[in-house]
Order: sequence, then structure tokens, then C-alpha cells
Amino acid sequence: MALSERDLLAKVPTGLYIGGKWVQGHGEGTIAVEDPATGKTLLEIANANADDGLAALASAYETQSTWAKVAPRERGEILRRTFELVRERSEEFATLISLEMGKPIAEARGEVAYGNEFLRWFAEEAVRITGRYGSSPEGTGRMLVTHRPVGVAFAITPWNFPLAMATRKIGPAIAAGCTMVVKPAELTPLTTLLFVKTLEEAGLPAGVINVITTNTSAATSGPIIADPRLRKITFTGSTQVGRKLLEQSAQQVLRTSMELGGNAPFLVFEDADLDAAVTGAMLAKMRNIGQACTAANRFIVHSSVAEEFGNRLAEKMSALKLGRGVDPETTVGPVINEKARENMHRLVETTVREGGAVITGGESGAGDGYFYKPTVLQNVKPGSTILGEEIFGPIAPIVHFETEEQAVHLANDTEYGLVSYAFTQDLKRGLRLIESLDTGMTGLNTGLVSNAAAPFGGVKQSGLGREGGTEGILEYLETKYVMTPDPSL
Ligand code: NAD
Repeated sequence: MALSERDLLAKVPTGLYIGGKWVQGHGEGTIAVEDPATGKTLLEIANANADDGLAALASAYETQSTWAKVAPRERGEILRRTFELVRERSEEFATLISLEMGKPIAEARGEVAYGNEFLRWFAEEAVRITGRYGSSPEGTGRMLVTHRPVGVAFAITPWNFPLAMATRKIGPAIAAGCTMVVKPAELTPLTTLLFVKTLEEAGLPAGVINVITTNTSAATSGPIIADPRLRKITFTGSTQVGRKLLEQSAQQVLRTSMELGGNAPFLVFEDADLDAAVTGAMLAKMRNIGQACTAANRFIVHSSVAEEFGNRLAEKMSALKLGRGVDPETTVGPVINEKARENMHRLVETTVREGGAVITGGESGAGDGYFYKPTVLQNVKPGSTILGEEIFGPIAPIVHFETEEQAVHLANDTEYGLVSYAFTQDLKRGLRLIESLDTGMTGLNTGLVSNAAAPFGGVKQSGLGREGGTEGILEYLETKYVMTPDPSL
């Protein structure tokens, strides 16, 4: 039988997790974690200060050398057991994600399945860390290349995918033999806490993963990043914070993985299958209530189909039902807080002033939560403010184009380069687009690219490095090269 919300919340640890123990935080007071659909507090959790952060780092550092010697198969087995436990408890994880983050329960189940795949994937990757051995070109030497764990890593995650953003980092770190300090976002830390309890149950040794929750992120993270015991930082969040962390990382020349913001273009050509394009648009725009780094941010549509595409999208958007995520009828939840909702108002008002037209939405939804109606903005002028910002909410601006060249120019006209989407039935055009769109990922005739087996990541100011795929584990490994003379000489 499903747990009640109260029983589920009672299972969530509320302390910091350091050296295999749940301990008090020494920051001021506690952190109240809110349900964005009601504005009410779900749970109060520990607040770490800088000393707690350094205690977590010390624990990770002391564990690093023993953890690196644990057999790859054993590291993989721990991940595999955790995968099985999360799968068994997927309804609990989905409910908790929905409660603290607001997404509809069906989507939260999707996140659990997706996030959990990183554990299965990296359980398999743990035993595939390879090297090579061969002759030097002159034949006088032998060259050996191996990989070893980077060392202690610091993971900082955002609020929008509370499970998946954690497993994408913790999975490869465990597989590679790294220990870690994890700092989840203060807005949605509960899922990570429950997840780490699950790792503990699956047999993860004390000190491998340490978790700090804090409402003083900069002050608590700074000393960790400045400490020579740390070797890597892996961050998912905004480009603005990513830049600051890169600056700080430069002092110790840390390995860095940065999954930052996006401003995804969604191109629809005159030869596109419009049904597929509208379905793809709903997925790419409305997944996570538009609060995803991969969210379609700019719909760039050929003028001959722009009106029809806009009307069909508006029809689907206006049919969505706003509500609390855990209500099974809900198909769109609230945005994360009042500040985010105010930003939606600002963006829509500015776009209208700059010549665009609201064809559906454009206002708050009813209720105490931070609801904003799914919105379509038609005929948005190139150069409009909204096209240059990460919207992070349920607003779809449509810009018109005439030629493929114009479309590509509009798509690439941003400092971001995470993902692009393109809908066309012309194979040659599709291939041209793959080569000309400046993004780390492209969805060709699909609105969803995320997959644990794929290298997720961006170019330009969307980040550095890749998560998932065969590339994902390399972010946690150093290459070691050895030269030795030809043994027969
Ligand atoms: P954010 O940058 O505000 O915060 C991310 C994390 O950084 C949080 O844990 C926060 O507490 C912490 N943080 C903030 N300032 C810090 C500082 N000075 N020092 C240390 N830590 C600090 O981002 P957010 O609002 O939580 O998430 C939304 C952003 O994340 C969007 O820009 C989105 O595109 C991006 N994102 C990117 C990906 C990706 O894979 N590329 C995935 C999800 C989200």
C-alpha cells in the first residue's frame, strides 16, 4: 500500500550525512523545505555552515585511498543494489519529488526511471575502465596508459530534477572510485537525502558520499573549493553561478564539469510533420513545467506553417490542467516560487511591448501555489528580450523565418549551446542542421534527448564536460601514462 505523505516525509533523514552518520548542522536555524503548490512547509532540515562543509570534505578525503582500492565489481554491485532498491521504492521517490518540486506525479515517475538508469549504467561502466599497452613508434619503448580516480569531488546540484541531477554525478563517482561531498539545492534537498539513505542501505561504506544541506551556499562551498584536498568540482545549475565556481576552481586548478543553462532553439521547417512537431514541442517545452535546461526556449518556425503550428500548440497548452503535482489529474504544476512567477509576468509583458501577441495564457493560475498558465506568444520579433533569456517556465515564444540560413542564424544567436531541436522530413536538410547548429546535443524530429547511455552536455556557455554515456565516467578519471624500455633490450 502506498505511504501517506506524512509517513513518507517521516522516512526522510533531516541531518547532514558525514562519515556515515546523520549529524546536526551548525548553521543558523534550520532550512524549511516548501511545497510550491501550497506554499506550506513540508519538512525542516539541518543547515550546514563552513565547518560542517570542511568536516564533510575531511571525511571524503580520509576515505578516498581505501575506496579507490575497492574492486570495480564491488563498486558496481553497490550501484546495482541501489538501482534495485530505488526501483522497488519508485513510488516513494516519485511522490517526494512531486511534493518538494511540484512536477506532476507522472513526470516524477519518469524522473525516477531516468535518474535510476544512471545507477544501472554506471554499475556496468565500473568494470569497463580500460587502458592500453603498446610499442612506442621507434620500437625502443613500451607505453602503458591507465586510468585512476580523480580523487575527492564536490557535487553541487540544482532544484529542478532532485533525483536525476544527483545520480548523474554520484553514479560515475562511485563507479570510478572517487569519494564525494554533495550539496543539493536548498529548495529541493529531500529526495537526495532519501536517496543517500538508500545508498547506505545498499552497502556503501561510510565516508564515500557525504551530504551537506545549507542556505549559505557560497559561504559553505567557498572553503571546500579552496581546500587542496579537493580535486574536482561537478556543478549543475545556472551559467551565472557556474562562472563564479570556475573562477574559484582556478585557484586549485580543479578538474571541472559544468552543466549550465540553456536557451534551446526548436526549429520547424515547412516540410516538417506538424503532428510530430507539436507533440515534440509539448515535450520539449512542458517537461518539468518548462523548468529544464533542455526546455525549448525559442520556437523558430517557417512563416508558411507558423500560424497553424502556433494554434495547434496553443490548443494543447490550454488543455493542460494546473494543480498540485501529486493529484493524478494534474498535467502541469506550479513554478518553483513567487520570484519565478514574477519573472513569467515580466517576460510576457516585455514581449507584448516588443510586438509579440499572447494567443493563450499570459496570466497566473488560480490557487495558493505559484501557478502560471501555459502560454504561447505568436510572432515574436527577432531581437526580443525573451529570446535572449532562459525562460525556465511554461512560455513558448514563436519567431518566424523565411530561409534555412535565417533559421540557423537565429538558432545560433545566443551565448548558450546546450541542445537544439529540429523538425524536417528532408534528410539532407536534417544532416546540414546537425552540422550547423552550435549545440552539444540535437533532437532531430524528437523533443526529448535525455538518456543515461548518451553524453549529455553543452558547448559555449552551457558548460564543460559530459554526463552519462561512455564519456561520463571519464570525468572522474585521470589518465596515467608510463614509459618503460623495450624489455628485450
Ligand atoms: P543555481 O545556479 O541558482 O543553483 C544551483 C546550485 O548551486 C544550488 O545547489 C545552489 O544552492 C548552488 N549555489 C548557488 N550559488 C552558489 C555559490 N555562490 N556557491 C556555491 N553554490 C551555489 O541554479 P538553479 O536555479 O538551482 O537551477 C536552474 C539552473 O540550472 C538553470 O540555469 C538550468 O538551465 C540549469 N540546469 C542545467 C542542467 C544541465 O545539465 N545543463 C540541468 C538542470 C538545470
